[in-house]
Amino acid sequence: MLIWGWTKMLEIKDLHVSYGGIQALRGVSLNVPDDKIVTLIGANGAGKSTLMRTISGLVKAQSGSILWNGQELLGKPIDQIVASGIAMSPEGRRVFADLTVVENLKIGAYLRKDKAETEKDLEWVYSLFPRLKERSWQSAGTLSGGEQQMLAVGRALMAKPKLIMMDEPSLGLAPLVVRDIFEIIRQINRQGVSILLIEQNANMALKVADSAYVMETGCITLSGAGKDLLNNEAVKKAYLGT
Ligand code: ATP
Repeated sequence: MLIWGWTKMLEIKDLHVSYGGIQALRGVSLNVPDDKIVTLIGANGAGKSTLMRTISGLVKAQSGSILWNGQELLGKPIDQIVASGIAMSPEGRRVFADLTVVENLKIGAYLRKDKAETEKDLEWVYSLFPRLKERSWQSAGTLSGGEQQMLAVGRALMAKPKLIMMDEPSLGLAPLVVRDIFEIIRQINRQGVSILLIEQNANMALKVADSAYVMETGCITLSGAGKDLLNNEAVKKAYLGT
């Protein structure tokens, strides 16, 4: 179970997913090693969100395999997948607008029974995002875009995941806020959480990633170390605008 000398935690093999007649994933294989940041880049509609939604159990696969520490995840219910240590921060933030910040965060921990640990993790999330602590009693719908994004990531962290999947965390945010979000991604990873990151901001994503995959129309077309893809001519032309 070693890839580039790293232990594989999430191992996806030959995954096929379709929505009715639309083949969204056509034999995707990808690995997320222990304690690493892996990014998935690709154009709109390439199938990136579908891959995350399939790992989370929200979308059913036709065939293939998703091994999580050697256990098959396909066919497992969503709550079991979350309880096994995988959490997702979805695209578009999707916070509960009418609930407060702290209520949103506690929803992330709904499967946990360890109350004392949960309180500690709430403080951990507040230490990562002091802005959320200041605004804990504010309703989530009144937060700025960047704050809502932080809340979505914080909510996923409240599940105490070993792997967090983030779908476009920087989408629509101002450059300074994007920089903050990427710094927090590094911090979360340093604390032992593996990260699968979908990003349109390929430049930032490849800089932060240990390894990276490029997806085109449902297939992985390129993979390698983040820094290598940053210097790859085809990637530069298609995704970095250089
Ligand atoms: P984006 O960056 O725009 O979010 P993506 O790479 O995440 O794109 P997906 O959202 O996974 O791509 O979509 C892959 C393909 O599957 C697209 O052709 C999309 O139209 C289609 N698709 C996604 N969700 C559904 C659905 N619920 N029903 C039918 N087709 C879908």
